[in-house]
Amino acid sequence: MMIKEWARIGFLDLIRFLNLHDLLTSVTTMKYKEIKMTPNKKDFQTNKVIELDAVVVGAGFSGLYMLYRLREAGFSTRVYEAGDGVGGVWYWNRYPGARCDSESIYYNYTFSEELLQEWTWSTRYPEQPEILRYLNYVADKFDLRRDIQLATRITAASFNETTNRWEVDMDDGTSVSAKYFISAVGCLSAANVPNIAGLETFEGEWYHTGNWPIEEEVSFKGKRVGVIGTGSSGVQSIPVIAQEAEQLTVFQRTPQYSSPARNHPYSEEFLKQTKENYTEIKKQMRESLRGIPTDRRDRSALDDTPEERRRVFEAAWNKGGFWYLNATYNDLMVNEAANETVAEFVRSKIRETVHDPAVAKKLMPTYYYATKRPISDTNYYETYNRENVVLVDIKKTPIQEITAKGLKTVEAEHELDLLVFATGYDAMTGSLFKMDIHGKDGLSLKEKWEEGANTKTYLGITTVGFPNFFMITGPESPSVLTNMPVSIEQHVEWIADCIEYLRGHGIDKIEASEAAEKAWSHHCKEVADTTLYANSESWYTASNIESKRKPTGFLIYLGGVGHYRKICDEVADKGYEGFTLTRREKNVSRQ
Ligand code: NAP
Repeated sequence: MMIKEWARIGFLDLIRFLNLHDLLTSVTTMKYKEIKMTPNKKDFQTNKVIELDAVVVGAGFSGLYMLYRLREAGFSTRVYEAGDGVGGVWYWNRYPGARCDSESIYYNYTFSEELLQEWTWSTRYPEQPEILRYLNYVADKFDLRRDIQLATRITAASFNETTNRWEVDMDDGTSVSAKYFISAVGCLSAANVPNIAGLETFEGEWYHTGNWPIEEEVSFKGKRVGVIGTGSSGVQSIPVIAQEAEQLTVFQRTPQYSSPARNHPYSEEFLKQTKENYTEIKKQMRESLRGIPTDRRDRSALDDTPEERRRVFEAAWNKGGFWYLNATYNDLMVNEAANETVAEFVRSKIRETVHDPAVAKKLMPTYYYATKRPISDTNYYETYNRENVVLVDIKKTPIQEITAKGLKTVEAEHELDLLVFATGYDAMTGSLFKMDIHGKDGLSLKEKWEEGANTKTYLGITTVGFPNFFMITGPESPSVLTNMPVSIEQHVEWIADCIEYLRGHGIDKIEASEAAEKAWSHHCKEVADTTLYANSESWYTASNIESKRKPTGFLIYLGGVGHYRKICDEVADKGYEGFTLTRREKNVSRQ
């Protein structure tokens, strides 16, 4: 099936077809009761129960904007953040070479024209410190800090069916009560350190890229460094570490498709033009497939001659960044033969770049292009031409154990002073599972999603059994296959509008219906099944996590940002179709 055909799959038609209308928006009455808090549900400093309209988990891109929107609408809101600063993944990901692979002019908030005009990015693909500065600037500009509690991790949240409120516990022993519980934890924030025997015996230093030291400067100078993992974090950090380390050994399990980012400073003229055209740029981003205004050519890769195809791929390669390569043809992810053309193009680039043919061969992926997230790099393949860099294929010669002196594969022991785990994340659900979340009848989110979250959400924003709980960029939403700020803004705005609607209509509780959840999950799966993503072995399907190795299915909605937005808007326009809304009898408002 061609990508353009996806647009014809109407989710709301599916709901109608399945005759779910009658189940939707059933309004029951319930007397609003006084909140009864258990004695420990108190702020121990003031000894008072804190009652809020909304608790938001996380102060990254999602949490900051959610706070802004809810506060603007007059809801008392507090954000809890485990880190000592705002920024979310951009607070924690301080590894060498960390930068964004979406272009900065698109990787920002668009809700404030003033902010768009005030902030100026220095380069095309910004480094982590610049993005962190941006988020801090946003927090200050909109005076968000007064409602953010840093260095506080939410440990548990449970829905009280008598009060229709969430009781939320923090790791400092305090608790609050909130009408709405909103997850802004991000999709890729629970670091995955694989369980390799002997790590505790290692006498050198070790770090995970997603939990890089904050105060301390990590030096590679004169050290024998090992990096395990060659995803985005590994590919970004390896060239930078190689420049400083005495010796770098890369332990690669699966090679990656990566294309050069061709990062560069922006010219003043370009920035001026961008700022003048943000209205149009914003429209294009919001209506696009992936949240970036790149024109995907509406043409099959197989309709071009090999020479013409090469010319098209070369142009995209030279433009820089995997988004451009992905946009060359419309069937790269739905047709095996088309996919092979781009896969072979990248392999040919590896062959041309890496001097040692044996090393080049090890670096060449053989799975379908982009079924693991493709990468944009700076001098990644070139780094393997350096004398101080060694590549070890740990699929061929698996890691046996970590020893006091280094890392032992079945073939050899590699002595190391410093080991970097670039081994990724327990993606999509890992950060949610770090909190003990219980919905109706004590149902735990972890138990509900034991077999995978891919069959159990409505719109990727809500899940049955957990009323008044919203997830920003949750499983089964477009999230990580898009330019994240665009998807985040759409979710935040939809959730804020929804909560305003509930307040305006005297509604106490919102919960997705089982039928709507089933239909949405069915739709997500049917779209994924038309693509090569369906059998992806990556964090897209949670197959990177030992304990989740059962096939969970594809965790992301592939219908595209613009199409998904239309579905969500239509649901809202129809009075939150697919949800059960429970009205309170007396209009006792806490909002
Ligand atoms: P990742 O893509 O999941 O890569 C993890 C790497 O570690 C893979 O090469 C994996 O091999 C390897 N690995 C995992 N467990 C292992 C084990 N037990 N033994 C040996 N190797 C193991 O993680 P990531 O690089 O941190 O990136 C995750 C995502 O974060 C990216 O895909 C991207 O969406 C996002 N990210 C974005 C940026 C950015 O530029 N904006 C930067 C960094 C990250 P296998 O492939 O064989 O599993």
